[in-house]
Amino acid sequence: MKRTHIKNLSEKKGEEVLIKVWVDVRRDQGKMAFFDFRDASGKIQGIVFGKPEVLEIAKTLRPEWVVAVTGVIQERNDKSAKEYIAKFEETGIQEKFIKDVEIEITGFDILNRAETPAFEITESTQNINEDVRLKNRYLDLRTERMHNNLVMRHKVAKLLRDELDTQDFLEIETPILGRATPEGARDYVVPSRLTPNHFYALPQSPQQFKQLLMSAGTERYFQFARCMRDEDLRGDRQPEFTQLDLEMSFASEEEIMELNEKLLIKVVTDLYPEKRIQEIPFPRITYADAMEKYGNDRPDIREDKDDENLLAFCWVVDFPFFEKTAESDDPQATGEWTFTHNPFSLSKPEFIEDLKNKTNIENIIAAQYDICLNGYEIGGGSVRAHDPEVLKSILGILGHSDEGVESDFGHMLRAFASGTPPHAGIAWGFDRLMMVLQNEATIREVIAFPKNGEGRCPLMEAPSLVSDTQLNELFISLKEIKKGSE
Ligand code: ASP
Repeated sequence: MKRTHIKNLSEKKGEEVLIKVWVDVRRDQGKMAFFDFRDASGKIQGIVFGKPEVLEIAKTLRPEWVVAVTGVIQERNDKSAKEYIAKFEETGIQEKFIKDVEIEITGFDILNRAETPAFEITESTQNINEDVRLKNRYLDLRTERMHNNLVMRHKVAKLLRDELDTQDFLEIETPILGRATPEGARDYVVPSRLTPNHFYALPQSPQQFKQLLMSAGTERYFQFARCMRDEDLRGDRQPEFTQLDLEMSFASEEEIMELNEKLLIKVVTDLYPEKRIQEIPFPRITYADAMEKYGNDRPDIREDKDDENLLAFCWVVDFPFFEKTAESDDPQATGEWTFTHNPFSLSKPEFIEDLKNKTNIENIIAAQYDICLNGYEIGGGSVRAHDPEVLKSILGILGHSDEGVESDFGHMLRAFASGTPPHAGIAWGFDRLMMVLQNEATIREVIAFPKNGEGRCPLMEAPSLVSDTQLNELFISLKEIKKGSE
């Protein structure tokens, strides 16, 4: 017999079926046994009644065992079945726990037994020690809430891919092994075996490659890109995270903002119909006003902070291009000035002469736009400096010497001198967006296998020591760690 998924069982009334499931719960009642069974598509009640040989096996089954169950699908008409049917008729939404039918069990085949799990799978796991959850992530992800987070993350990504595809964007992968870049965070570095004493850096974002794709005539690029930044961690930060990264040739600031606004609205209306967007078009707030009114540059403009279905998007615009290095926490900033967002940005048109002449630096406004949602920055981007002379001048303001510019940015300058169209782009923090949409408190809840608050993976136990053979191949010798210097 072919397997039927639980979500399709309502259509099988009176039929004999085979389901392949996890035992969620078992309840014994004298000569009967009741089960809740679970597969990736849903849950259903099972009942053993009047079959002593089946009951005998039923009583040996424990939660999280994997079983193949044969049985006949029967209509249910108890109180919870009636409530389920009424809700389904009213909303059209099929709940995961199918209650209009149940399976009257005729046989079991045990596919795998399970040791007693580290925690109960049927409960919400938010209150369990997070390292225990992460160490047993495969169990944690079996819970309905975590499974649903993965399902919705997939659906949002798919909707965005499909939508961008219809607008002629190409999804293009860019390298993970790259070169250290000046994007404001510390790089993760990877030693090279073939070029000893040299290091790759993991990308902080695909910024340079996506701009090079504009030089390459791609015109419209996007990517669900992994980014790695060696920063101190918080609830909405991870050492590696996912961006929806995009770049467009010949696009103005206005076009990028309009495109992104439409994408976000479509995600909400198609996939989160229960949620309300506070204001469309999304309000725009200048950086100066945000700082004055809200004291930060990711304002939470919600009218009602108790409403978990309210989404208050806003754009923050008119950022200063540069700030004094002394005021910055950028570990790579060495000169007098550093950039506030992105060294590859352009200024607003009225400041381009200032950029070229390196004048009026503190007042130059960048053509930079951030998108915020309920107090989180969920994306940011800019119009780029595609004129090599302007980029050189910006790098000069940032304190790079002529030789430094050549060695670190020569490839960008040569590409820009080869006929590169004006271009602009943006990247969304996809995990943060999903965190807010799923009403979760941290981005770890919407990532399948995140690191813990110390940047460690308790499941695989990473980072870990490596063998002397590996170190020797890389010409690396380890230093002793002095107490207090860890
Ligand atoms: N690369 C930028 C970032 O990661 C986003 C962008 O300007 O496109 O913040």
